[in-house]
This record gives sequence, C-alpha cells and structure tokens, in this order.
Amino acid sequence: MGSIGSNLQEVKRRIASACLDAARDANTVTLLAVSKTFGADAVREALAGGQSAFGENYVQEALGKIELLADLRPQLQWHLIGPLQSNKTRAVAEAFDWVHTVDRLKIAQRLAEQRPPSLPPLQLCLQVNVSGESSKSGVAPTELPALAAAVAALPAARVQLRGLMSIPEPAADPQAQRRPHRLLRDLLVQLQAQGLAVDTLSMGMSADLEAAVTEGSTLVRVGSAIFGRR
Ligand SMILES: *Cc1c(COP(=O)(O)O)cnc(C)c1O
Repeated sequence: MGSIGSNLQEVKRRIASACLDAARDANTVTLLAVSKTFGADAVREALAGGQSAFGENYVQEALGKIELLADLRPQLQWHLIGPLQSNKTRAVAEAFDWVHTVDRLKIAQRLAEQRPPSLPPLQLCLQVNVSGESSKSGVAPTELPALAAAVAALPAARVQLRGLMSIPEPAADPQAQRRPHRLLRDLLVQLQAQGLAVDTLSMGMSADLEAAVTEGSTLVRVGSAIFGRR
C-alpha cells in the first residue's frame, strides 16, 4: 500500500477507467472514503488529498471522530453506512449528513423528528437485501416500494429519500459481482417509475467498484483500498 494520498489517486483512476469502459461521465460517481477503524489523523490526511466525503459504520466511533475533527466540519461530509438502532437515531440525526442504512419506517420517522431544523435535511438511502436469505439486514425487494413511498412522504425539510444502498455477498468473478448491482439499479428505476425523485445508487466497495460502476453506481464506498487493511 502507498500513502493515503496515492491510494486515493489510484482509486480515482480505477473509477475513471470503469466509467470510460461504461461510457459514463466520471463526475457522476462520488467516492466515499470509508474511514471506520482508522483515526482522525487518517481522515485529515485524506482531506489533504482532496477527499471530503467519509463513511463510518459504528455510531459511537464516528461521533468521537466527528468531535475530534469539529474544526474541519464545514469541509467534511459524514455518511453512516453501518446498522442504526433506534436508541442511536438522535445522535445520528444531529451529527451526520447522510444515512445509507434505513431499512424500516420507524428509523426514518425518528430521524425526521430528531433532525435539528437548523441543519439541512438528512439525506437517506434505503438498504436493500439483494442477497436473499444469506443477509439479514436490508429491506426485501418486495417490501421496498411501500417503504420508499412512506419514507418519501416524511417532512422534506428534515429528511430526503435519495436512493438505495446494498452490501452484496462477496463474489470473486466480475459477472457474479454485477448481478446484485444490476438488481439494485432495476429497483431504483422501479421507484423512479413510481414517481419518486431518487437518484442515488450506493453500491460498490474496494473489491467490486468496477462492477458497481458498470451497473450504474453513483456512489462507491471504499475503505481498504484507501486506508489499508483493517
Ligand atoms: C467496510 C465497508 C465498506 C468498505 O469496504 P472495503 O472493502 O474496505 O472497501 C463499504 N461499505 C460498507 C457498508 C462497509 O461496512
């Protein structure tokens, strides 16, 4: 592994190359740097390398880091990409910009009630279970249209439904990697046909970002390829 700065450049090169192959504009893919288990110094180093959007899995760990980096808050965007229990929604509504892992209405309702009116609306993605039985988190595709409609109807000044997120089963071969990403994209298109203004596909990680970009990802969540092994 190189430095965080050179790793960032390499990940951006991979995204650009996947976009070129897919005839997509590289500006349509946002890079989220997943800083879980790495300290505030690693985030500072990535920021110095031009990275401003960061993903965290564990609420408690993230809150500590957000606090340590409070001086840089205006330049940073914090995304929760890990599970969210209802007793943590207030802290999340107060500290984060995005939550990718909403999979039931109750959580979205609490976030809407608890989002401080002084802040811009919290941006939400619904986590979809694209791997069936093998994964427990995420809404089932059959239950997605109703959940999406209910979340989209929450007060727009507090929360905005932006799209879908998934964590597929790891697969080594690129064709197998593409299948769950294609499913998520098809589900987003269905929601758009349902009349919802959703534009975000949060899919793809260090090992499968090319497959995700090929299938339309607009936001890739990359940890180890930037920060190193956890
Ligand atoms: C850890 C994590 C990532 C990043 O994974 P890497 O393989 O390190 O790129 C992305 N998304 C979620 C939800 C994660 O938990």
